[in-house]
Amino acid sequence: MNYRIGIGYDVHKLKKGNLLWLGGILIKHPYGVEGHSDADVILHSICDALLGAAGLGDIGKHFPDTDMAFKGIDSKILLKETYRMVLKKKFKVINTDTTLSLQEPKIATYILAMRNCIGKILKISPFQISIKATTSEGMGFIGRKEGVAAHSVCLLRSFYTKRKWV
Ligand SMILES: [Zn+2]
Repeated sequence: MNYRIGIGYDVHKLKKGNLLWLGGILIKHPYGVEGHSDADVILHSICDALLGAAGLGDIGKHFPDTDMAFKGIDSKILLKETYRMVLKKKFKVINTDTTLSLQEPKIATYILAMRNCIGKILKISPFQISIKATTSEGMGFIGRKEGVAAHSVCLLRSFYTKRKWV
């Protein structure tokens, strides 16, 4: 049985008055994320982890920020499209794990909703999706509330019938 691991990282600026999308959920906060799409760092880092594990490059290759088709796009659509490409390569996701770096607000009460949202897109149980959050103890661009970042890993299993690498 073939397994593949992937890692993803994403960062976006925070700006007063913008919407704060994290893990497919809109968070109530005076500051939001800035980017070409809805700038959801959790979903983008999961996309990159999935693409990396499947050997499909990165999110910038498939959804370039120079393409107006992706201007303001809901990142749930990007994750859905990413997973379609992964399935086409005969891989299924076993689990994902994400660490969000954000000084504020506290997102603990939103985590279950995020896991449910991502689980629906990847057609797996929320128990197969982990989301954790940490501050940077006031240090660096995260601590100064200038930006938000996320690291994700995922594990894929090949369901290729001839049991060879694809
Ligand atoms: Zn991004």
